[in-house]
Amino acid sequence: MPTIFSHAVVPIATSLGIGNLVSRRLLVFSAFCAILPDFDTLAFKFGIPYASQWGHRGFTHSIAFALLVALLAMCFARPLKSRAWVVFVLSFIAVVSHPLLDMATSGGLGVALYWPYSNERVFFDFRPITVSPIGIANFFTARGWAVLKSEFLWVWLPSIILLFTLRGMRR
Ligand SMILES: [Zn+2]
Repeated sequence: MPTIFSHAVVPIATSLGIGNLVSRRLLVFSAFCAILPDFDTLAFKFGIPYASQWGHRGFTHSIAFALLVALLAMCFARPLKSRAWVVFVLSFIAVVSHPLLDMATSGGLGVALYWPYSNERVFFDFRPITVSPIGIANFFTARGWAVLKSEFLWVWLPSIILLFTLRGMRR
């Protein structure tokens, strides 16, 4: 995975780009949505193998899971203080951006993007993001620095460009 901060950057930049339609609560919620798929690392604690559909980068890293979360989130449009369709679109983008970023990382197994249709683990051909270690240990090392550099270049920078493009389109 890229670090959780980088995952959260995508919906935060999208929210700030969209502007008024997104409440502050929805912005925070969408950041949470972007890191939600990696709660599957708990699977390791239960002895579920990495390659299992229930393992890390398994079903929580699928388009189907993103749709499910987005549909569920719509039920909370009122407490999230935003319109239902905005909640749906932003939650979907937030969750699905996670496996798409993972697919551009240099290590680990691919993601089960097409689950439950297929449990095949997929990657992009172009994988410029240096994979970050699971857990925070060993982060402040040369490898940690390489991760941050690649994430800045391939996640933060495009997100900032997206933010200003969306803002420009609103004018
Ligand atoms: Zn992940």
